Amino acid sequence: MLIIGPHLSIAAGFKKAGEEAVKIEANTFQFFTRNPRGGKAKTLDPKDIAGLRQIMAAQGFGPLLAHAPYTLNLCSAKPETREFARMVFKEDLLRLEELPCELYNIHPGSHTGQGVEEGIKSITAILNEEMWADQKATVVLETMSGKGTEIGKRFEELKMIIDQVALNDKMGVCLDTCHVYSSGYDIARNLDEVLEAFDRIIGLNYLKCIHLNDSMMPFNSNKDRHQKIGLGTLGVETFKQIVTHPQLKKLPLFLETPQQDTLDYQKEISLLRSFIKKI
Ligand code: FE
Ligand code: FE
Ligand code: ZN
Repeated sequence: MLIIGPHLSIAAGFKKAGEEAVKIEANTFQFFTRNPRGGKAKTLDPKDIAGLRQIMAAQGFGPLLAHAPYTLNLCSAKPETREFARMVFKEDLLRLEELPCELYNIHPGSHTGQGVEEGIKSITAILNEEMWADQKATVVLETMSGKGTEIGKRFEELKMIIDQVALNDKMGVCLDTCHVYSSGYDIARNLDEVLEAFDRIIGLNYLKCIHLNDSMMPFNSNKDRHQKIGLGTLGVETFKQIVTHPQLKKLPLFLETPQQDTLDYQKEISLLRSFIKKI
């Protein structure tokens, strides 16, 4: 059974998002911890959270994924941007203690000119100051496309971050299929080679989840433009390989494909599920 779900808004509550997921035959979902541009997080409503827990138990949901706002930049050259990121990061970790969600996805950040090594120092300084030993959530670093000064485009960069975090048993990686393809890992033609490289450099035990997105952009373009599954440069065969791959098929999968309506995710979910049923 695939664990797969879309990115959903929690504007109308967590229970509502759970219900929406069920409606489209998803058994997990990803949500932004707050407005994607940053801003204040809504107060948590225990009744709403209990409602989501009930749905998850009844429907046998897999792990949910919380995504930090994409403005969070732990390695900006600007101190005030880093301090804002620290505040959001800490607050999100505390909120996750109350939620049925143990995976917290962050973009490592953009070094905005200081260089990768300095950037990684800024990121890990904040992580080391704000994480604590018995926190519930695992901090999941997303593989990035490498646009601008993004850190996380090479597996080596993610490994450096993990190595510099003291509580590295609380660290993980989210492989974004669109991003890795754009950053020069050819998962369309050499999925096994890419996974071998991941295992050699980071270790597959750190791979906690996958963002399933096709790409509008060519291989190695360092561009970040998601496309619907099967309609982009990765193509449907790539996704068939991923969801049936022995080392990947048990991981939770999250769709971040461009859709007009949440119901449109249902087509992708049933397509991806159909690859499993035929085996
Ligand atoms: Fe992301
Ligand atoms: Fe992503
Ligand atoms: Zn992206």
